[in-house]
Amino acid sequence: MANLLWLQGGACSGNTMSFLNAEEPTVVELVTDFGVNILWHPSLGLEIGEQVSDLMNDLIAGKIPLDILVYEGSIIEGPNKTGTMNYFADRPMKDWVKELCGVAAYVVAIGDCATWGGIPAVPPNPSESTGMQFHKRHIGGFLGAGYKSKGGLPVINIPGCPAHPDWVTQILVAISTGRVKDVLLDEFNRPKTFFTDFVQTGCPNAISFSQKVDGHFGKRGGCLFYEVGCRGPMTRASCNRILWNRQSSKTRANHPCLGCTEPGFPHHDLVKGSVFKTLHYLGFLPRDVPAGTSKLAYYTRAGFEKAMGTVEAVTGTNKVHFETSK
Ligand code: SF4
Ligand code: SF4
Repeated sequence: MANLLWLQGGACSGNTMSFLNAEEPTVVELVTDFGVNILWHPSLGLEIGEQVSDLMNDLIAGKIPLDILVYEGSIIEGPNKTGTMNYFADRPMKDWVKELCGVAAYVVAIGDCATWGGIPAVPPNPSESTGMQFHKRHIGGFLGAGYKSKGGLPVINIPGCPAHPDWVTQILVAISTGRVKDVLLDEFNRPKTFFTDFVQTGCPNAISFSQKVDGHFGKRGGCLFYEVGCRGPMTRASCNRILWNRQSSKTRANHPCLGCTEPGFPHHDLVKGSVFKTLHYLGFLPRDVPAGTSKLAYYTRAGFEKAMGTVEAVTGTNKVHFETSK
Protein backbone atom coordinates (compact mmCIF):
# COMPACT_ATOMS: atom_id res chain seq x y z
CA MET A 1 0.00 0.00 0.00
CA ALA A 2 1.27 3.48 -0.85
CA ASN A 3 0.05 6.48 1.13
CA LEU A 4 -0.67 9.45 -1.13
CA LEU A 5 -1.29 13.06 -0.16
CA TRP A 6 -2.40 15.52 -2.87
CA LEU A 7 -2.03 19.26 -2.28
CA GLN A 8 -2.93 22.19 -4.47
CA GLY A 9 -1.35 25.66 -4.66
CA GLY A 10 -1.76 28.27 -7.40
CA ALA A 11 -4.03 26.19 -9.59
CA CYS A 12 -7.36 26.05 -11.39
CA SER A 13 -8.04 22.39 -10.40
CA GLY A 14 -7.72 21.42 -14.05
CA ASN A 15 -5.29 18.65 -13.24
CA THR A 16 -7.65 17.27 -10.62
CA MET A 17 -10.41 17.27 -13.24
CA SER A 18 -8.09 15.50 -15.63
CA PHE A 19 -7.02 12.96 -12.98
CA LEU A 20 -10.65 12.09 -12.20
CA ASN A 21 -11.15 11.26 -15.89
CA ALA A 22 -8.28 8.77 -16.03
CA GLU A 23 -9.09 5.55 -17.82
CA GLU A 24 -5.96 3.42 -17.92
CA PRO A 25 -6.10 2.92 -14.99
CA THR A 26 -8.98 4.82 -13.43
CA VAL A 27 -8.71 6.51 -10.05
CA VAL A 28 -10.87 3.77 -8.53
CA GLU A 29 -8.56 1.11 -9.97
CA LEU A 30 -5.60 2.94 -8.47
CA VAL A 31 -7.16 2.37 -5.08
CA THR A 32 -8.66 -1.10 -5.53
CA ASP A 33 -6.05 -2.75 -7.76
CA PHE A 34 -2.79 -0.88 -7.25
CA GLY A 35 -2.79 -0.19 -3.52
CA VAL A 36 -2.82 3.59 -3.63
CA ASN A 37 -4.22 4.90 -0.35
CA ILE A 38 -5.38 8.48 -0.89
CA LEU A 39 -4.92 10.02 2.54
CA TRP A 40 -6.39 13.34 1.48
CA HIS A 41 -7.17 15.26 -1.68
CA PRO A 42 -8.51 18.85 -1.77
CA SER A 43 -11.50 17.89 -3.93
CA LEU A 44 -12.11 14.36 -2.66
CA GLY A 45 -11.10 14.42 1.00
CA LEU A 46 -13.84 14.43 3.61
CA GLU A 47 -11.58 15.84 6.33
CA ILE A 48 -11.53 19.58 6.97
CA GLY A 49 -9.71 22.07 9.19
CA GLU A 50 -7.66 20.56 11.99
CA GLN A 51 -8.26 17.06 10.70
CA VAL A 52 -6.13 17.98 7.69
CA SER A 53 -3.46 19.88 9.59
CA ASP A 54 -3.24 17.03 12.13
CA LEU A 55 -2.75 14.58 9.28
CA MET A 56 0.01 16.70 7.75
CA ASN A 57 1.71 17.14 11.12
CA ASP A 58 1.62 13.35 11.64
CA LEU A 59 3.19 12.86 8.21
CA ILE A 60 5.91 15.40 8.94
CA ALA A 61 6.58 13.79 12.33
CA GLY A 62 6.90 10.37 10.70
CA LYS A 63 3.91 8.88 12.53
CA ILE A 64 2.38 8.03 9.14
CA PRO A 65 4.65 7.22 6.18
CA LEU A 66 4.23 9.50 3.20
CA ASP A 67 4.95 7.44 0.10
CA ILE A 68 3.74 9.89 -2.55
CA LEU A 69 3.26 13.64 -2.36
CA VAL A 70 1.40 14.93 -5.41
CA TYR A 71 1.44 18.67 -5.91
CA GLU A 72 -0.79 20.57 -8.33
CA GLY A 73 -0.43 24.30 -8.98
CA SER A 74 2.38 26.78 -8.62
CA ILE A 75 4.29 27.41 -5.43
CA ILE A 76 3.22 30.92 -4.45
CA GLU A 77 6.07 32.74 -2.74
CA GLY A 78 4.55 36.23 -2.70
CA PRO A 79 4.49 38.74 -1.33
CA ASN A 80 8.20 39.22 -0.77
CA LYS A 81 8.89 35.49 -0.40
CA THR A 82 6.56 35.15 2.61
CA GLY A 83 4.08 32.89 0.81
CA THR A 84 1.21 34.44 2.73
CA MET A 85 -0.73 34.98 -0.50
CA ASN A 86 -1.50 31.25 -0.33
CA TYR A 87 -2.37 30.33 3.23
CA PHE A 88 -3.43 26.76 3.95
CA ALA A 89 -4.24 25.27 7.34
CA ASP A 90 -2.88 28.29 9.20
CA ARG A 91 0.46 28.42 7.38
CA PRO A 92 1.79 29.45 4.00
CA MET A 93 1.30 26.47 1.71
CA LYS A 94 4.95 26.64 0.68
CA ASP A 95 6.00 25.88 4.27
CA TRP A 96 3.83 22.75 4.36
CA VAL A 97 5.25 21.69 1.01
CA LYS A 98 8.85 22.18 2.10
CA GLU A 99 8.41 20.01 5.20
CA LEU A 100 6.37 17.35 3.45
CA CYS A 101 8.97 17.11 0.69
CA GLY A 102 11.50 16.38 3.44
CA VAL A 103 9.66 13.19 4.44
CA ALA A 104 8.06 12.03 1.18
CA ALA A 105 9.43 8.93 -0.53
CA TYR A 106 8.49 10.39 -3.94
CA VAL A 107 7.20 13.76 -5.06
CA VAL A 108 5.19 14.17 -8.24
CA ALA A 109 4.43 17.59 -9.74
CA ILE A 110 1.31 17.55 -11.90
CA GLY A 111 0.65 20.15 -14.59
CA ASP A 112 2.64 23.13 -15.84
CA CYS A 113 2.05 25.30 -12.78
CA ALA A 114 3.59 22.71 -10.46
CA THR A 115 6.37 21.69 -12.81
CA TRP A 116 7.66 25.08 -14.03
CA GLY A 117 5.32 27.77 -12.79
CA GLY A 118 2.98 27.73 -15.80
CA ILE A 119 0.57 30.56 -16.37
CA PRO A 120 0.85 32.06 -12.84
CA ALA A 121 4.60 32.56 -13.34
CA VAL A 122 4.20 34.58 -16.54
CA PRO A 123 5.78 38.04 -16.04
CA PRO A 124 5.12 40.20 -14.13
CA ASN A 125 4.24 37.23 -11.91
CA PRO A 126 2.54 39.18 -9.10
CA SER A 127 2.13 36.09 -6.90
CA GLU A 128 5.86 35.26 -7.22
CA SER A 129 4.91 31.83 -8.47
CA THR A 130 7.42 29.17 -9.36
CA GLY A 131 7.51 25.45 -10.03
CA MET A 132 8.53 22.72 -7.60
CA GLN A 133 12.01 22.17 -9.04
CA PHE A 134 12.08 24.29 -12.19
CA HIS A 135 11.29 27.89 -12.98
CA LYS A 136 10.35 27.79 -16.63
CA ARG A 137 13.36 26.15 -18.31
CA HIS A 138 15.74 26.66 -15.41
CA ILE A 139 16.32 24.01 -12.80
CA GLY A 140 15.97 25.23 -9.22
CA GLY A 141 12.45 26.43 -8.65
CA PHE A 142 11.15 26.20 -5.10
CA LEU A 143 13.01 23.13 -3.85
CA GLY A 144 16.35 23.82 -5.53
CA ALA A 145 18.34 21.93 -8.13
CA GLY A 146 19.78 19.42 -5.67
CA TYR A 147 16.52 18.25 -4.14
CA LYS A 148 15.86 14.53 -4.02
CA SER A 149 13.04 12.81 -2.23
CA LYS A 150 13.74 10.02 0.25
CA GLY A 151 13.40 7.52 -2.56
CA GLY A 152 16.38 9.15 -4.28
CA LEU A 153 14.62 10.85 -7.20
CA PRO A 154 14.10 14.51 -8.01
CA VAL A 155 10.55 15.77 -8.36
CA ILE A 156 8.93 13.71 -11.11
CA ASN A 157 7.42 16.21 -13.54
CA ILE A 158 4.20 15.41 -15.38
CA PRO A 159 3.58 18.65 -17.27
CA GLY A 160 0.59 19.66 -19.37
CA CYS A 161 -2.19 22.17 -19.13
CA PRO A 162 -3.66 19.94 -17.87
CA ALA A 163 -1.57 16.78 -17.73
CA HIS A 164 -3.04 13.80 -19.54
CA PRO A 165 -4.84 11.73 -16.88
CA ASP A 166 -3.26 8.43 -17.86
CA TRP A 167 0.26 9.91 -17.58
CA VAL A 168 -0.63 10.69 -13.96
CA THR A 169 -2.22 7.41 -12.96
CA GLN A 170 0.43 5.31 -14.73
CA ILE A 171 3.25 7.04 -12.85
CA LEU A 172 1.37 6.53 -9.60
CA VAL A 173 1.12 2.82 -10.48
CA ALA A 174 4.87 2.73 -11.11
CA ILE A 175 5.47 4.13 -7.63
CA SER A 176 2.91 1.97 -5.85
CA THR A 177 4.27 -1.20 -7.46
CA GLY A 178 7.88 -0.33 -6.65
CA ARG A 179 8.94 0.16 -10.29
CA VAL A 180 9.46 3.90 -10.36
CA LYS A 181 13.25 3.63 -10.28
CA ASP A 182 13.02 1.93 -13.68
CA VAL A 183 11.29 5.00 -15.11
CA LEU A 184 13.80 7.05 -17.08
CA LEU A 185 13.53 10.83 -16.79
CA ASP A 186 14.60 13.40 -19.38
CA GLU A 187 16.50 16.65 -18.74
CA PHE A 188 13.30 18.26 -17.42
CA ASN A 189 12.61 15.27 -15.14
CA ARG A 190 9.71 14.15 -17.31
CA PRO A 191 9.20 10.37 -17.70
CA LYS A 192 10.69 9.51 -21.09
CA THR A 193 7.95 7.01 -21.77
CA PHE A 194 5.47 9.87 -22.23
CA PHE A 195 7.74 12.72 -23.29
CA THR A 196 10.20 11.43 -25.89
CA ASP A 197 8.11 11.43 -29.06
CA PHE A 198 6.91 14.71 -30.49
CA VAL A 199 3.16 15.38 -30.63
CA GLN A 200 3.56 15.07 -34.39
CA THR A 201 4.16 11.32 -33.99
CA GLY A 202 0.84 9.78 -34.91
CA CYS A 203 -0.71 13.01 -36.14
CA PRO A 204 -2.84 12.26 -39.22
CA ASN A 205 -1.66 15.55 -40.72
CA ALA A 206 2.00 14.53 -40.71
CA ILE A 207 2.13 13.93 -44.47
CA SER A 208 0.72 17.40 -45.02
CA PHE A 209 3.58 18.74 -42.93
CA SER A 210 6.14 17.24 -45.28
CA GLN A 211 4.10 18.28 -48.35
CA LYS A 212 3.59 21.82 -47.04
CA VAL A 213 -0.19 21.63 -47.32
CA ASP A 214 -1.76 24.24 -45.07
CA GLY A 215 -4.53 23.36 -42.65
CA HIS A 216 -6.97 25.53 -40.76
CA PHE A 217 -8.82 25.43 -37.47
CA GLY A 218 -11.42 22.70 -37.33
CA LYS A 219 -11.16 21.69 -40.99
CA ARG A 220 -9.95 18.21 -41.76
CA GLY A 221 -6.83 17.79 -43.79
CA GLY A 222 -3.73 19.93 -44.00
CA CYS A 223 -1.04 20.69 -41.48
CA LEU A 224 -1.61 23.32 -38.83
CA PHE A 225 2.05 24.29 -38.57
CA TYR A 226 2.30 26.87 -41.31
CA GLU A 227 -0.67 29.13 -40.75
CA VAL A 228 -1.80 28.61 -37.16
CA GLY A 229 1.49 27.74 -35.50
CA CYS A 230 0.96 24.15 -34.36
CA ARG A 231 3.81 23.25 -32.02
CA GLY A 232 3.53 19.51 -32.65
CA PRO A 233 6.98 19.25 -34.24
CA MET A 234 8.74 20.77 -31.22
CA THR A 235 6.62 19.54 -28.32
CA ARG A 236 7.41 16.29 -26.61
CA ALA A 237 4.21 14.54 -25.52
CA SER A 238 2.35 11.36 -26.42
CA CYS A 239 -0.98 13.05 -27.21
CA ASN A 240 -1.27 11.28 -30.57
CA ARG A 241 -0.16 7.94 -29.14
CA ILE A 242 -2.07 7.83 -25.85
CA LEU A 243 -5.24 9.52 -27.03
CA TRP A 244 -7.32 11.78 -24.84
CA ASN A 245 -10.50 10.03 -23.69
CA ARG A 246 -9.17 7.12 -25.80
CA GLN A 247 -10.62 9.04 -28.73
CA SER A 248 -8.71 11.98 -30.03
CA SER A 249 -6.18 14.75 -29.61
CA LYS A 250 -5.98 18.43 -30.44
CA THR A 251 -4.36 17.91 -33.82
CA ARG A 252 -6.74 15.06 -34.70
CA ALA A 253 -9.54 17.56 -34.11
CA ASN A 254 -7.59 20.07 -36.22
CA HIS A 255 -6.65 22.35 -33.41
CA PRO A 256 -2.97 23.30 -33.21
CA CYS A 257 -0.86 21.91 -30.41
CA LEU A 258 -0.03 24.78 -28.04
CA GLY A 259 3.09 23.13 -26.70
CA CYS A 260 1.69 22.76 -23.22
CA THR A 261 4.16 20.11 -22.04
CA GLU A 262 7.23 22.25 -22.68
CA PRO A 263 8.65 24.53 -19.99
CA GLY A 264 8.21 27.66 -22.12
CA PHE A 265 4.42 27.33 -22.04
CA PRO A 266 2.47 29.56 -22.53
CA HIS A 267 4.50 30.41 -25.64
CA HIS A 268 3.37 33.96 -26.04
CA ASP A 269 4.27 35.39 -29.43
CA LEU A 270 5.83 38.78 -28.85
CA VAL A 271 5.65 39.62 -32.54
CA LYS A 272 2.05 38.74 -33.24
CA GLY A 273 0.75 38.90 -29.69
CA SER A 274 -0.86 35.49 -29.86
CA VAL A 275 -0.15 32.05 -28.47
CA PHE A 276 -0.89 30.71 -31.95
CA LYS A 277 2.63 31.47 -32.99
CA THR A 278 3.73 30.51 -36.43
CA LEU A 279 7.32 30.55 -37.56
CA HIS A 280 6.22 31.13 -41.13
CA TYR A 281 6.98 34.81 -41.12
CA LEU A 282 10.49 34.28 -39.86
CA GLY A 283 11.39 32.86 -43.24
CA PHE A 284 13.72 30.10 -42.09
CA LEU A 285 11.38 27.18 -41.72
CA PRO A 286 13.15 23.83 -41.82
CA ARG A 287 11.94 22.74 -45.23
CA ASP A 288 12.38 19.01 -44.84
CA VAL A 289 12.67 16.98 -47.95
CA PRO A 290 11.72 13.34 -47.53
CA ALA A 291 14.66 10.96 -47.73
CA GLY A 292 15.44 9.75 -51.24
CA THR A 293 13.66 12.69 -52.91
CA SER A 294 15.33 15.51 -54.81
CA LYS A 295 14.25 19.01 -53.86
CA LEU A 296 12.90 19.61 -57.35
CA ALA A 297 10.80 16.43 -57.31
CA TYR A 298 9.64 17.16 -53.82
CA TYR A 299 8.48 20.71 -54.44
CA THR A 300 6.88 19.69 -57.73
CA ARG A 301 4.88 17.03 -55.97
CA ALA A 302 3.99 19.30 -53.05
CA GLY A 303 2.78 21.95 -55.48
CA PHE A 304 0.75 19.39 -57.40
CA GLU A 305 -0.87 18.05 -54.22
CA LYS A 306 -1.71 21.54 -53.12
CA ALA A 307 -3.13 22.54 -56.51
CA MET A 308 -5.29 19.41 -56.61
CA GLY A 309 -6.55 20.10 -53.09
CA THR A 310 -6.17 16.55 -51.94
CA VAL A 311 -3.76 14.74 -49.73
CA GLU A 312 -3.60 11.21 -48.45
CA ALA A 313 -2.66 10.63 -44.88
CA VAL A 314 -1.68 7.29 -43.46
CA THR A 315 -2.47 6.75 -39.81
CA GLY A 316 -1.28 3.41 -38.52
CA THR A 317 -2.94 0.76 -40.63
CA ASN A 318 -5.78 3.04 -41.69
CA LYS A 319 -5.47 4.98 -44.89
CA VAL A 320 -7.49 8.14 -44.62
CA HIS A 321 -8.35 10.42 -47.53
CA PHE A 322 -8.90 14.04 -46.62
CA GLU A 323 -10.22 16.91 -48.65
CA THR A 324 -8.06 19.93 -47.93
CA SER A 325 -9.60 23.33 -47.58
CA LYS A 326 -8.54 25.88 -50.14
S1 SF4 B 1 -0.87 19.44 -37.48
FE1 SF4 B 1 0.83 19.86 -36.04
S2 SF4 B 1 1.42 17.85 -35.24
FE2 SF4 B 1 0.17 17.50 -37.07
S3 SF4 B 1 1.63 17.35 -38.74
FE3 SF4 B 1 1.06 19.48 -38.64
S4 SF4 B 1 2.59 20.45 -37.30
FE4 SF4 B 1 2.73 18.25 -37.01
S1 SF4 C 1 -1.56 18.44 -28.22
FE1 SF4 C 1 -0.03 19.89 -27.46
S2 SF4 C 1 -1.19 21.49 -26.37
FE2 SF4 C 1 -2.57 19.72 -26.64
S3 SF4 C 1 -2.34 18.51 -24.75
FE3 SF4 C 1 -0.86 17.68 -26.22
S4 SF4 C 1 1.07 18.79 -25.80
FE4 SF4 C 1 -0.60 19.94 -24.86
